[in-house]
Amino acid sequence: MSRLTRETGVIYNFSKEHSPVKTVSPGTTLTIETYDCFTDHIQTEDNVMEQLDWDKVNPATGPVFIEGALPGDILKVKIEKIEVGEQGVMAVVPGLGLMGDTIDKIQAKIMQIKDEKVIFNDIEAPINKMIGVIGVAPEGDPVSCGTPGDHGGNMDNKMVEEGATLYFPVAVEGALFALGDLHAAMGDGEISGSGVEIAGEVTVTLDVIKGEKIEQPMLENDYVFSQIASAETLDEATNQAVSLMVDRIVAKTGLPMSDVTMMMSMVGQTEICQVVNPLKTARFIVPKWYLKDLQITLI
Ligand code: CA
Ligand code: ZN
Repeated sequence: MSRLTRETGVIYNFSKEHSPVKTVSPGTTLTIETYDCFTDHIQTEDNVMEQLDWDKVNPATGPVFIEGALPGDILKVKIEKIEVGEQGVMAVVPGLGLMGDTIDKIQAKIMQIKDEKVIFNDIEAPINKMIGVIGVAPEGDPVSCGTPGDHGGNMDNKMVEEGATLYFPVAVEGALFALGDLHAAMGDGEISGSGVEIAGEVTVTLDVIKGEKIEQPMLENDYVFSQIASAETLDEATNQAVSLMVDRIVAKTGLPMSDVTMMMSMVGQTEICQVVNPLKTARFIVPKWYLKDLQITLI
């Protein structure tokens, strides 16, 4: 199995200008090591200001060039495994997140991960390991690893977990895939602006799909298919996620828009990924049994 160490290279934005640190052929399974979102700089709860380097936030390991991936194709990323370290960190920062107005100074909390639990003030919570930043290079200007978009990036979507498969629209040759910003746990919304930030490693299988097109990332697991969308507001992100899904099902089934809209209002789930990044991210979810009854596959 191939391996990409974090020392090989990290990026702080997704850009077509980056040189790939690794080239793989479709079908490759690759283990990618990651720093936490603070590039592992916050190791204690003291002097957080001095430890924090705002130019080094949300490193993503990569980028990886996938042979044969061309603009208009889809990059398929199966998340085989997520392993996280033994110590995570959360922070609150003035102005950051939904409670940012009430926070007067940066504070950090270091927490241990033991037996699939996060220990916070002696209270144990179950871990839900997930990937905050994952994506491909956009067609236009570079996009900071703090911001999500059509290319993926900082989507902070709790469903990006072990066993999920992500689909990204390829915008540049080779796709230039990268990931980072693992969380040992995070709730929908990521209300403080931080999950349980942690270093770790992710094993993915990378594939290229020709002849299908998507505009924003999609996600599939054993139970559901999901359209993800990021926009200036949560309303707009929700709107985009729902419209893209309805349009896709109309195109695949040939059913009238009115029927599909009613069907999606009946079985579809509109959910929040995050509400704290420069663009907000929503997802719209359709159960697989329903797609099976419709006799379609979305990708
Ligand atoms: Ca994040
Ligand atoms: Zn994070």
